[in-house]
Amino acid sequence: MNEAELLFSSVLNCNRMSLYLDRQRLLTNDESEAIALALKRRIAGEPLEYILASTEFMGLEFKLSPDVLIPRPETEILVETVIRQARAADNAKILDLGTGSGCIAVSLAKFISDSKITATDISVKALEIAAANAGFHNVKINFLCSDLFTSLSLSQYKYDIIVSNPPYIVTEEIWQLQPELQYEPLVALDAGPDGLEFYRRIIDKAPDHLEKGGFLVMEMGFGQRKAVENIFKKSKKFEIIEIVADYNGIDRVIVARRQTGG
Ligand code: GLN
Repeated sequence: MNEAELLFSSVLNCNRMSLYLDRQRLLTNDESEAIALALKRRIAGEPLEYILASTEFMGLEFKLSPDVLIPRPETEILVETVIRQARAADNAKILDLGTGSGCIAVSLAKFISDSKITATDISVKALEIAAANAGFHNVKINFLCSDLFTSLSLSQYKYDIIVSNPPYIVTEEIWQLQPELQYEPLVALDAGPDGLEFYRRIIDKAPDHLEKGGFLVMEMGFGQRKAVENIFKKSKKFEIIEIVADYNGIDRVIVARRQTGG
């Protein structure tokens, strides 16, 4: 559906086909006011997903608020990559760092039924949305307010897979990108002066929380592959085993395995 179809079918609570077939339908005052208001917000630059307070990801509906990043189609590739890795293991223990709307954690819980998922976020408001999405989809996820690994105890509990779509935009560039980005939470986008801060922090601490042979799977921004690979190489704790490109041919997902020795 294009944006106009999405907006109209959502406000009028009908499917796409009826927009074209119900030609006799007259809009009520409330409906036309709701549409006028939504259009005004969209014209001002607000993303449609925030206006509708929901979006689709992995074929599932997710509630949204401006406290969470809008799930992107590229991130489905991250989820699909994790699903492939997790299917090889029974009862995979998975950690999603910076869950935001919960789109990654909830999709994984839906598609890998025997998985055990923990999801963290630094934002309590984001966690409320993520928990609502988990409830809506009837999946059990262990949510935790944490700045990456900081609130996770260094207990015996280790994960088979750590997944993250961390912030990866260079601070200076946020203001030069699409105007829609200004509506999204800065905490979900800003990754410091070189855009790599979160990769450094995650790669540094992930070995303490991963089973030996476990996987760290992360989304990357345009042109970041080499730099992220270098951070992995410097850590000497991982072997890079896969890079997955998105539909535009951009290297989007990196999979690294925690080395079994050391
Ligand atoms: N993919 C988002 C964008 O390019 C950024 C998300 C992120 O920083 N993880 O707008």
